[in-house]
Amino acid sequence: MSDQTNRRTLLKLAAMSGAAAAAVPMGAARAQETATAPVDPQSKYTSEPFKEQPQPWPGLQSKMDPVPDCGETSYRGSGRLAGRRALVTGGDSGIGRAAVIAFAREGADVAINYHPDEEPDAQDVAKLIKDEGRKAVLIPGDLTDQAFCVDLVQRAERELGGLDILVNNAAYQQSKKSIDDISFEQFDRTLKTNLYAMFWITKTAVPLMKPGAAIINTASVNSVSPGEELLDYATTKGGIAIFTKGLAKQLAKKGIRVNAVAPGPIWTPLQVAGGQLPGKLGEFGQDTPLGRAGQPAELGPLYVALASGELSYTDGSIFGANGGTGIV
Ligand code: NAD
Ligand code: MG
Repeated sequence: MSDQTNRRTLLKLAAMSGAAAAAVPMGAARAQETATAPVDPQSKYTSEPFKEQPQPWPGLQSKMDPVPDCGETSYRGSGRLAGRRALVTGGDSGIGRAAVIAFAREGADVAINYHPDEEPDAQDVAKLIKDEGRKAVLIPGDLTDQAFCVDLVQRAERELGGLDILVNNAAYQQSKKSIDDISFEQFDRTLKTNLYAMFWITKTAVPLMKPGAAIINTASVNSVSPGEELLDYATTKGGIAIFTKGLAKQLAKKGIRVNAVAPGPIWTPLQVAGGQLPGKLGEFGQDTPLGRAGQPAELGPLYVALASGELSYTDGSIFGANGGTGIV
């Protein structure tokens, strides 16, 4: 190869790489455009009836068909929670996992609590947090234990170096046709998990939080419109809504906002681990105006918005995500 040919080849390569370099931002802009293009919410996710697929409690989302979408491949952050420190209960799967992924992609360090039987799901989440270069603190343990709840908050605060965001999201839900079928043990466990743990955790967290901090509770459409087969669970969800509003009044003077998210039918392990009556999974979400169940990923942005200081005048409020039913 002559020097001249060499030079010509080099120039050609340089021109090509220049064109490629110029093409990158264009391509990126197009990808961004595609990601933010309007999407029909009816067809964004499957509306196929789900197959029966019972799992023993607490259920693993990796074993579900289809596997719920918690935003693993879709959520894009923009630094809205840079440097914040969050504790999320039930952060291993479902709606809590969607909040955790979104928080980490927005720049937060996150501690998650989950039941020890959920270690595989929790490990998946830990990897997703670390992939963002954020700190992941895993604190497995049983929320029906008061001493554990107190220790959970203290450990999370210590290991994160502070606590700016608390998401009380874990819950126990077992569908039973009649009050006759709800055992004293089930009633006790539902209230312990959904109400007592929220109180124990929040009471421990508040003195550790500073002005600008945010508490977000996961309520439900059952908070205002109880499902007939969810008497004990709906009772706790009504309590969570009132606790949210009452606590917001108290903590406003400390500069801490308290809000809640109230989901409708969302495809998560809760539903396959006793959350629905046997034989009913095929109907799950089908009667909403959007004609399908929601996916956890569709709620992540709500938790981010409530956690960030942007919604600074939003306090003591409850936000629905229920496919058009208008219940909340
Ligand atoms: P999920 O099963 O993914 O999450 C519930 C989590 O609760 C579990 O992952 C588990 O870690 C935690 N948990 C329960 N008992 C526990 C205990 N004793 N100790 C430690 N952890 C415990 O299901 P999800 O649907 O994402 O549930 C998250 C929240 O969303 C719950 O508050 C639920 O009531 C609420 N919600 C869900 C729906 C829905 O259709 N999926 C609708 C309305 C409200
Ligand atoms: Mg789970």
